[in-house]
Amino acid sequence: MKNIHFVEDASQAPIAPGAYILWLRLDASRLVTTGVGQAILYPGDYLYCGSAYGPGGLRGRLARHMRREKRPHWHIDQLTAAGVLRGAWVKEGGDECVLNAALGALPIALERFGSSDCPRCPSHLRRLDDAASLPETMRRSIEAIGAGVAWRAYRLLHKPDPDASLMDECWVRIMSDYSCDGVWNRAGCSVELEELPVEEALRDRIRLWRAHYDAHDDTEGDMPDLEDFAEEGKAIAEAVKGRLPEWTVVYFDDAKHRRYLKARRYGKAARDFEYEISLQENPLSPDAGSSPTSD
Ligand SMILES: [Zn+2]
Repeated sequence: MKNIHFVEDASQAPIAPGAYILWLRLDASRLVTTGVGQAILYPGDYLYCGSAYGPGGLRGRLARHMRREKRPHWHIDQLTAAGVLRGAWVKEGGDECVLNAALGALPIALERFGSSDCPRCPSHLRRLDDAASLPETMRRSIEAIGAGVAWRAYRLLHKPDPDASLMDECWVRIMSDYSCDGVWNRAGCSVELEELPVEEALRDRIRLWRAHYDAHDDTEGDMPDLEDFAEEGKAIAEAVKGRLPEWTVVYFDDAKHRRYLKARRYGKAARDFEYEISLQENPLSPDAGSSPTSD
């Protein structure tokens, strides 16, 4: 697997002929047809090995895959029309079956998919459930792009590691609980606030917020100013996201959680108490104070 590199867009691929591995995500189940029948592919990430030895080479073929509107010709057209293309690994002069063999640690998604006329491979489509199963060269080539949609998707495909540092995963949950630091990793473990690479003033703001929680040793009833507390937590989470825009910042809203627990008794409850912070909606500076509650 030498000389393989990752492209997020067809324009980054060479015009030279070669082989490629498409990475696509299905957000909904999809019934697909192959030479041997029909089957359902479930939501998730998939890798497909193909080759491009016609005019236009790798760039031309990837451009076709990345276009949704097309007359179906190959099995994979059913998926590229329905799914989201994350990008592709390309290898000039490569052989699709050799690339496919290198993905042997990944489970086959569907027998004979894309390999009806291939004597060597049971299928050219595999499931990608865990980025750690990718060959080292493929992982390095996607780490090399270091930003963008594919990079974030790649990070999320790593199974949560309880011992991972926040920096390892660029992921943090802001959530208060008794006697913790208020920051948690993706595996759900409380970690030390010092792991969060933000300025000391913002850490102090988190400490103050946390101390308020501990001061209300009241597991049964509501904290008297629970709404304000939850708003300040959200503002903190937004400030963290502002400092670390490439990170995934998740906020656990205690006020919404209490409402959820009450509503659940009556059978109608929205699980909206934990959500990812997005910069577009909340372009707040780290110094912004808590804003009035609006819901
Ligand atoms: Zn093959």
